[in-house]
Amino acid sequence: MADTLLDKIWQAHTVRVLPSGQTQLFIGLHLIHEVTSPQAFHMLREAGLKVRFPERTFATIDHIVPTASQLRPFSDTLAEEMTAHLVRNCQEYDIPLFGLDSGRQGIVHVIGPELGLTQPGITIGCGDSHTSTHGALGALAFGIGTSQVRDVFATQCLAIARPKLRQIRVDGRLAGGVYAKDVILTIIQRLGVKGGVGYAYEYAGSAVEAMSMEERLTICNMSIEGGARLGYVNPDETTFAYLKDRPFAPQGETYDRAVRWWKSMATDPGASFDHVVHLDALSIQPMVTWGINPGQSVGVKDPIPDPRNAAESDRASWAEALAFMSFEAGRPIIGTSIDVAFIGSCTNARLSDLQSAAAVLQGRKVAKGVRALVVPGSQAVAKAAESEGLHEIFREAGFEWRKAGCSLCLGMNEDKLQGREICASSSNRNFKGRQGSPTGRTLLMSPAMVAAAAIAGEIADVRELLP
Ligand code: SF4
Repeated sequence: MADTLLDKIWQAHTVRVLPSGQTQLFIGLHLIHEVTSPQAFHMLREAGLKVRFPERTFATIDHIVPTASQLRPFSDTLAEEMTAHLVRNCQEYDIPLFGLDSGRQGIVHVIGPELGLTQPGITIGCGDSHTSTHGALGALAFGIGTSQVRDVFATQCLAIARPKLRQIRVDGRLAGGVYAKDVILTIIQRLGVKGGVGYAYEYAGSAVEAMSMEERLTICNMSIEGGARLGYVNPDETTFAYLKDRPFAPQGETYDRAVRWWKSMATDPGASFDHVVHLDALSIQPMVTWGINPGQSVGVKDPIPDPRNAAESDRASWAEALAFMSFEAGRPIIGTSIDVAFIGSCTNARLSDLQSAAAVLQGRKVAKGVRALVVPGSQAVAKAAESEGLHEIFREAGFEWRKAGCSLCLGMNEDKLQGREICASSSNRNFKGRQGSPTGRTLLMSPAMVAAAAIAGEIADVRELLP
């Protein structure tokens, strides 16, 4: 019988089926950070319980950490307090922490894959909704709430309902200037922000198979923005090559054995899905969001849509979005002035993201009046980028070169929009208030498109700046 990767991992990690119909699922890897873990540690302590598998638990500091200076104690007392809490909790429960002096600190969804902790065929839990990112390596990765973080601490298990499975096939070749971010924004635009509720997404097709691991991470990262809690790509040679020699990946003969097992976990030919969607890669263009959720996007050459043309169920939210953004239906999105350019986040702050933006910025300057910052996803990304001189390209263009963290993706540290500022952002959410100002406006796009907008001072078509 032909099985999917979802079938195989689910079966391999099922402890038992609960009376509720949910599955008690063993979690192979638990990733934690400073924001969603303190309360869970507190509940664990109150219950007099220990962390069941500290060797399967790893911590980093990302959400609230400052990115201008990371010298302790931080001037932000809340950031300092949360960091100190995490350090203490990790010491008390014997959990490895990738702290600021480790050389391995960074956004939890960037460091998991780059350290080789994220591997095919495993289950992963993390108290952050973008945990779906890790599915790029062929894992089932769940974003979980604080009480579930406690449950995983105490039992290494989750009680969870098995989702249905939708395969999204993207076939053909992407045109120049079109990136993985444009693919996932297109998928969310077509299927809707709630289209994936109750589903896991399997991304497949020749365009996905041709993607690098970093591009696959971008796609899987935003599964949750389309309503799917899980998203994955089947493990293949790209996956195995990516994992080879990573610090926590199996080494030597164990690696060879692991590759054999990883291969066996991929979806079998002829396996069936609850639903299949097809996309032509060549039909995808550089995308920009115009509204207040990641599904409200258009191609850069297209006009902002008119709520009168929306499906009945979308009409009110489109009108609300236009009113919040102060945008006019029918006018082109290209040419929209920006105040801030942000390259960062667990969606698009890996080395290839910085390379694609630097290729656009080389020899050019950020427009007057635009505040531009680039925040590498991890210390390792920063180091690799610096070794290629990318930091100099960014600085010469007029970008601030920051230290690793979530930064302006959610504005939990000092990096925030001011008032009604408009930000061209490589992050994943454009919700009202997401970037730290309740009235700030976020336009999501690829890092190369952010670079193009930073130079022009307005939304521009990156294809016109590429050789
Ligand atoms: S970069 Fe943004 S989306 Fe990613 S983990 Fe941090 S806050 Fe969450």
